[in-house]
Amino acid sequence: MSELSLFATPEERIAALRAQIHHHNYCYYVLDSPEVSDAEYDRLLSELAALEAANPHLITPDSPTQRVGAPPAEAFQSYQHRVPMLSLANCFSHEELRAFDARVKRMLDRPATEAIEYVAELKIDGLGVSLTYEEGVLVAGATRGDGTTGELVTQNLKTVRALPLRLQGTDWPPRIEVRGEVFITHEEFRRINAEREANGEPAFANPRNAAAGSLRQLDSAVTAGRRLQFLAYGIGYREGIQFDTHFDLLATLRRWGFPTSGDSCLCRGIDAVVAYCAEWEPRRAMVPHDIDGVVVKVNALALQEALGQVSRSPRWAIAFKFQPTQATTVVRDILVQVGRTGALTPVAVMEPVEVGGVTVSRATLHNEDEIRRKDVRIGDTVVIQRAGDVIPEVVTVVTSKRTGAEKPFVFPERCPACGEPVERPEGEAVARCVGVACPAQVKRRIAHFVARGAMDIEGIGPAQIEQLVEKGLVQDAADLYSLTVEQLLPLERMGKTLAEKIVRHIDASRGAPLARLIFALGIRHVGEHVAELLANHFGSLAALEAAPAEEIQQVPGIGP
Ligand code: NAD
Repeated sequence: MSELSLFATPEERIAALRAQIHHHNYCYYVLDSPEVSDAEYDRLLSELAALEAANPHLITPDSPTQRVGAPPAEAFQSYQHRVPMLSLANCFSHEELRAFDARVKRMLDRPATEAIEYVAELKIDGLGVSLTYEEGVLVAGATRGDGTTGELVTQNLKTVRALPLRLQGTDWPPRIEVRGEVFITHEEFRRINAEREANGEPAFANPRNAAAGSLRQLDSAVTAGRRLQFLAYGIGYREGIQFDTHFDLLATLRRWGFPTSGDSCLCRGIDAVVAYCAEWEPRRAMVPHDIDGVVVKVNALALQEALGQVSRSPRWAIAFKFQPTQATTVVRDILVQVGRTGALTPVAVMEPVEVGGVTVSRATLHNEDEIRRKDVRIGDTVVIQRAGDVIPEVVTVVTSKRTGAEKPFVFPERCPACGEPVERPEGEAVARCVGVACPAQVKRRIAHFVARGAMDIEGIGPAQIEQLVEKGLVQDAADLYSLTVEQLLPLERMGKTLAEKIVRHIDASRGAPLARLIFALGIRHVGEHVAELLANHFGSLAALEAAPAEEIQQVPGIGP
């Protein structure tokens, strides 16, 4: 909103917002390649909506607040939806959900105390499609497009295995349009992007864009090669069939052979809806695909009809949006971290920003090639994201925000921690510090050695390791085993109790199983599983040390 003051009149600001939103719609819906995070896009849209609400005479039918999506791309045959495919009104808090409930009752002239029946469903972050069945056979499949006109992608939709080409049973009407979401799993998203990277194609920004990009292919063979999923959540145009409730409708769709979400919940009253939302938000990372919220629908179809719709969305439904996991922020600096194996990882230091409920100020840039590919510069505005528990990463640069003052990053030729040369073997993406005594590597190696799953030595964290290495008390993991309480006591924030505990835990770790010790050594390519294989085969560290490469490669599961 602060930009508002830069504009003399609401007209000018509205025009500027519309131009920006049109541009972002085009990037998102037509190119499947957004330039800004969804949260930033939503902010622009709600600013526009607020300005239009205050100045209703400035609303035009082509304003992005009045329409959904974007017109179909010219490459596809267009498809007229008989019943418009609308968007959903959004809300971001439990209070707003309750306000929605109050609005529904007011419009229906129902007492405020009545418990309206709702269906709460997970909001899958994919793209909405329409499937028309005539005499039980799929005859047309289309994207939502701008809600009125979509793209005809029947051949591509036919490659989606979950989707019935012919309806089961016999009780279907002569003509019915089923609607649902096409999406992909996180695993498939990674697979597609790895494949694209290998082919030198730009990666998709998120699973939703990957699903949309996969469905909107001119060559169905490409779509067939992507594992697209589908879940049905409603109907559009129909002839000769009536349903009483949305919940019944879902059950019927299941009977006809459509996959529907098993997590949909019939809720009596808004409290049950709020509880459902509260239950799912922390669980979203456990779902194998993206969900960005909960869709709440009035269950009785007669009430849905009575409520009707506004230009862009039905009045009988609302999307409760989870906290975004993408955000836009500014790169203040780019640092290079030295890992356990000497690998140099560039890290963006950013203006702190909230992503998925946590404040983030650093994001990985992976390696030199990634920085070059994404062309991330110091001072750039970037989109960052957190997927599940992984470290935040920079997704893309918002090049339209460049001022010319941004500084390209020069990858160091010497290790920032020890000054030794950096080597990058031919064909590898990772550059490494060659210094054997590099303090950054030593610290990381020790942190790995004491970690849970390795030697599991409690009480030694990054702060202790930092001091132990800086004071020269520890140069490698073996040095830990001669540490005394007296040596530990002078460290910062160290008391007698903690020092004794650390020594006791170090001592206890002598009894750790061999596999954990091998893993703790942090040998490249030796994770927990390989460590287990080696321990089982060799039985002792001495035997492993003495073994030539030929013998190690004989171990089942290892190979050359
Ligand atoms: P939406 O995605 O917020 O909600 C409507 C859609 O939800 C429906 O079309 C349907 O496909 C889907 N949906 C999922 N589960 C559903 C269920 N159970 N029942 C009914 N519908 C369900 O709205 P939208 O208009 O498709 O798109 C807006 C979204 O796209 C916003 O999140 C916005 O931030 C993002 N967007 C981002 C950019 C960008 O540049 N980053 C540009 C345009 C739009």
